[in-house]
Amino acid sequence: MQYFSTRGETAPVSFTKAVMMGLAEDGGLLLPRTIPRIGNETLSSWENLSYAELAFEVMSRFIDDIPENDLKALINRSYASFEAEDVAPLVHHGDLHILELFHGPTLAFKDIALQFLGNLFEYLLEKDDKVLNIIGATSGDTGSAAIYGVRGKERIRIFILHPHNRVSPVQEKQMTSILDDNVFNIAIEGSFDDGQAIVKKIFGDLDLKKEYSLGAINSINWARVLAQVVYYIYSYLHVRTHEKMPSMDFTVPTGNFGDIFAGYIAKRMLPEGAIRQLVLATNQNDILNRFVGAGDYSLSDVAMTTSPSMDIQAASNFERYLYYLMDSEAGKTKELMEQFSQEGKIDLSDYLDQIRRDFSSVAVSNEEVSETISDFYNKYDYVLDPHTAVGVKAAGDKYTVGVPMVCLSTAHPAKFPDAVHDAIGRDPEVPPSIDGILERESRCQVLAADAKVIVQYIKDNAKTAQKEQ
Ligand SMILES: *Cc1c(COP(=O)(O)O)cnc(C)c1O
Repeated sequence: MQYFSTRGETAPVSFTKAVMMGLAEDGGLLLPRTIPRIGNETLSSWENLSYAELAFEVMSRFIDDIPENDLKALINRSYASFEAEDVAPLVHHGDLHILELFHGPTLAFKDIALQFLGNLFEYLLEKDDKVLNIIGATSGDTGSAAIYGVRGKERIRIFILHPHNRVSPVQEKQMTSILDDNVFNIAIEGSFDDGQAIVKKIFGDLDLKKEYSLGAINSINWARVLAQVVYYIYSYLHVRTHEKMPSMDFTVPTGNFGDIFAGYIAKRMLPEGAIRQLVLATNQNDILNRFVGAGDYSLSDVAMTTSPSMDIQAASNFERYLYYLMDSEAGKTKELMEQFSQEGKIDLSDYLDQIRRDFSSVAVSNEEVSETISDFYNKYDYVLDPHTAVGVKAAGDKYTVGVPMVCLSTAHPAKFPDAVHDAIGRDPEVPPSIDGILERESRCQVLAADAKVIVQYIKDNAKTAQKEQ
């Protein structure tokens, strides 16, 4: 499978090149040449596969430059680190099927992609005898999941920018208490969007990128999207068997448009109508809700909410969908993205019909999140984390009687004890992996939200091939 840039100015590359490239060299995002369709027969033959087996079947349709057995081994290793045997268990409460994606080492869904990406990087670097310096910005969960994905890996160093004092204390410690020599935590004095802008800027400097072998781990990396496609198909198959229904809806709490974009790809892979509705759920940072509701994709200030991993305005994966919305016209995509970066807004109201065929959406307030956590706990004795609660609230709003609704649960409630405590009057149960974490020793560098300062820090600490020899 070849990968091309949404801006059309990078020569097509293979899967492994696309993974190492992260962002395309023309500033666009990489997409597969085609989205393979899965026929009904194939789909039925997948019904009894384990999570890792299914992951191989799905991913191998997009990857043709890694030998089968190597890919299988990579996938198996990545999902062996999960607490739950089936990686992503489904639980059923009321009308909802909740897909628990938080059984990885950092208790958030991002482990599913980043355990795989970490192993994939290591494999590719080993093969080519190379080193990699990973730069990423996090609103909370990506950072720790990325760090856990690559900690201790010899050929890799990782630099993670998080907004100083704007991630939960547990999230912060999950990153900063990892003391492996190859892990560098940077707290920037700014917002997540500032961090993301700095990372984008760094990757825009192609000489720097090359000289320091910089790589991305944010959800702009295609391998992450791909790994996430798997659990849509996995849960689709399970719910289809359980409910004896061939068509269902999915609700996805969304920030960077990554997770829901994986759902969009899954929807296009599955037979027509298998995924009927994709409900995009945002918190008060509702740029994507305004986009779906009115075609208005425009920045406003980032508000701090009880679901901090979704406190995002410019959604880094949006460009991928925009490309399809523009009928695969790279020139148009590029023009609109340039307009967005200059003016902070684009008007897509002419495309509303198509947008609404692809998504529906709901924005959820902090109060509603709190009520949802409390209601769900009272009714089902099940504790939702605030991000999942955003989804559950939206799922309730968009639920159609008779159509199964799968709601993606993106984090374990123990990562956000304050919001949970406020809602139900008690703390969530703490899993062993984060028990006592606030007392652990930690290491972190606070720096200005200034690309120059960050670049200097990275230069000072980067791994270079020469140093090793
Ligand atoms: C990252 C994250 C999200 C948002 O996912 P996107 O891919 O950015 O849309 C939602 N919930 C949690 C817990 C997260 O960590």
